[in-house]
Amino acid sequence: MEKKVSAILLAAGGSTRMGLDADGKRINKLLEPLCGMNAIERCVLRFAALADELVIAASEQNLFAAQKAALLSSVPVTIVPGGERRQDSVLNGLKAAKHEIAAIHDCARCLVTEEVIAKAIASAREYGSGVPAINVRDTLRRAGTGETVERDGLVRMQTPQCFDREKLIEAYAQAGSVTDDAAIWQGVYGQVRLTAGSPVNEKLTERDDVGFFKRLIRGESEMRIGIGEDTHRLVEGRRLILGGVDIPYRLGLLGHSDADALIHAVMDAMLGAAAMGDIGRHFPDKDPAYEGISSLILLEKVNEMLKKNGFAVSNIDAVVIAQEPKLAPFIDEMRKKTADALGVGIDRIGIKATTPEHTGPEGNSECITVRAVACIRG
Ligand code: MG
Repeated sequence: MEKKVSAILLAAGGSTRMGLDADGKRINKLLEPLCGMNAIERCVLRFAALADELVIAASEQNLFAAQKAALLSSVPVTIVPGGERRQDSVLNGLKAAKHEIAAIHDCARCLVTEEVIAKAIASAREYGSGVPAINVRDTLRRAGTGETVERDGLVRMQTPQCFDREKLIEAYAQAGSVTDDAAIWQGVYGQVRLTAGSPVNEKLTERDDVGFFKRLIRGESEMRIGIGEDTHRLVEGRRLILGGVDIPYRLGLLGHSDADALIHAVMDAMLGAAAMGDIGRHFPDKDPAYEGISSLILLEKVNEMLKKNGFAVSNIDAVVIAQEPKLAPFIDEMRKKTADALGVGIDRIGIKATTPEHTGPEGNSECITVRAVACIRG
């Protein structure tokens, strides 16, 4: 029987070379949105397709993000605490893992391809080790002395570094302080087997890398557009909730959930872009589980469904058609709540309101209608 694989995803690094954001806080590279999905989520999706289980070694600050990312996995996920050093995190992961092959991967390499992973795993199954590497293409020079370093025979090591798990644990017991698992393996068992790496399997390290990574993701992915529309009747005795914001008004929207027509239109636009049906199919209004539920919770679920299928929201635009009340004071809060539910920046969410000049049912305050478009990538 083919040896099973535990992917050990490292999400405990310090992001020391990322610098500070506008508020002076250190940027956490693993939590940066990269075209709608962060690095941990991208790695979970990639490895869930090829491994039999995932073990995420997460620092305390990345714990919540790891738990959220775990929801995207189609295979079992265990989360373990990260350690002081990289190798401490790896060892925690190795001990929690169950299968014969360990594929140890830095989540900062979130653009890793299935091909790179598959080749390294295949090598470990056959020879005990498999580590992706690529040739050095650039001229290398020491900055201090200007001396050129001979690049022939030099390779750049990548991850996932894949090994026979039990043998690696034994090697760890004898290891000093090292930069990667290949060095630990080599100290005990000799050279590792090198497999084909990829130039896109770079490590998100510095701030400028974020833009570069986004360009790579956009270049690889397809853009898709969806449309959504929703109308709810305005009645007395109901709250008016739009974009997750409770808006004071004498009438409210009638419906099974909180009747948030804005979020409903957005969800339908997202599902439409992914050709995944509509909200009526996924959240039937006969189902008591959805009675009175906040539509923002449903929006998070829809976002998760899209991500599981490899899609991420690029941007949303919506227009609310209502004669009353004045919505302008609430627009930014609606954008913020929508953006937070989707895990994207507020600059990705457009919401506008228009009055229909007292024409039609919206103009007579019989109902509110919302139209939305979603652009997604996948
Ligand atoms: Mg609706």
